[in-house]
Amino acid sequence: MATALAAAAQTQPPAHHWAIVLHGGAGVIERSSMKPEAEAAYRASITQATQAAANVLDKGGSAVDAIEAAIQILEDDPLFNAGRGAVFTADGKNELDAAIMDGSNLKAGAVAGVTRTRHPISLARAVMEKSPHVMLIGAGADTFAASVGLEEVDPSYFFTERRWQGLVKQLQKEGRPIPPRPAGAPPPPTGPLTEIEPPEAHKYGTVGVVALDRAGNVAAGTSTGGTQAKQWGRVGDSPIIGAGTYASNQSCAVSATGTGEYFIRLGVAREVCNLVYFKGMPLQQAADQVIHKELEAMHGDGGLIAITPDGQLAWSFNAPGMYRAKLAEGGKLEIGIYNDEP
Ligand code: ASP
Repeated sequence: MATALAAAAQTQPPAHHWAIVLHGGAGVIERSSMKPEAEAAYRASITQATQAAANVLDKGGSAVDAIEAAIQILEDDPLFNAGRGAVFTADGKNELDAAIMDGSNLKAGAVAGVTRTRHPISLARAVMEKSPHVMLIGAGADTFAASVGLEEVDPSYFFTERRWQGLVKQLQKEGRPIPPRPAGAPPPPTGPLTEIEPPEAHKYGTVGVVALDRAGNVAAGTSTGGTQAKQWGRVGDSPIIGAGTYASNQSCAVSATGTGEYFIRLGVAREVCNLVYFKGMPLQQAADQVIHKELEAMHGDGGLIAITPDGQLAWSFNAPGMYRAKLAEGGKLEIGIYNDEP
C-alpha cells in the first residue's frame, strides 16, 4: 500500500506555486494631486484584495475563486470604479460591466449594463457556469442574477457623492445637461466634500485580477463602471472577451484598463496572449509591445496585468499611474501607483 501511494505521488504533476497580479485602474493618477491619506487608503485596499485572493490560492482554491474573492472586495470599495463607487452615465445611472475567463477550459462569462446586481463579477461567473451563454446585458442580466440567487440591490446602492460630483463637473465643463440627482441617493451635502480626493481624480478605478493556482491553471477577471458620462448604452472593453479580459492555459491571462474603445479595436488581451503563444515572447515583452507600440500607435491610453501558467507576472501601462499589485507564493507583496515605481 505504502509503495503504491509513493508511486502514485511520484506520478502526480508537481504543484505549481500560486501567483496573483491585480490592478485598480490606470489614468492620470499623479503624486502632485494625491493626498497621503488617499494614497494610504488605495494601498490598504489593494493589499486587502490581494490578500483575499492569496488566502484562496494558498488553501488550494482555484484561480477563478481567487479572482472572484478579490474583485468582490474591490466592487464593495467606493474607491474603485466598479460596483459601489462606479462612475455615472450622462443620464445619472451606474451601468456596470464585468467578465471572467477560466484558462483551463476557455469558458467565459460576461455582463454589460447591469444596474441591480451587487457583484457584477459573480454574475459574470454565473453566466459562465450556470447559463449556456457567454454574455448577457442590461435588465435581462439582472433578472438572470436574481434567478440564480445573487444579491440584488437598489440602483442607489452604487451611488457615491464624489462620483456624482465628478459627473456634474465634467458635464458642466462640456456644456452638457445635468441629469436629476438619482432617486434613493442621500440628500446633497450641505458643506464642502470631505472626501479624501477631488472628484476628478475618481474617473479611474476599473479593477482586474489575473491568477495562477496550484493546479497550474490561469484565469482573468475585470469589473468596471466604464467611462464617466458615457451615453447610449456604451460598453467598453472590460466585458469583451479578448479585448479587456482573456485567459488560456496555452498562453496567458490578461485584464486591461484604459479607454476601452482602443482596447476593443486592438483586441488587447488576446493580442498579448497571441504574442506569447505564436511568437514565444516572454510575457513582459509581449505586454510592453502591445501597450507601448501597438496601443500608442493608435494614441490609446491605459494598461494591463498578465500572468502565465509557468509563473511569469507582468504589468505594463502608458498612463501616469496604475494602481497595481503582484504577489507570488513565498514572495513579497509588490504595490505600485505611479509610473516611476518599479
Ligand atoms: N476600460 C474601461 C472601459 O473602457 C474603463 C477603464 O478601464 O478605466 O469601460
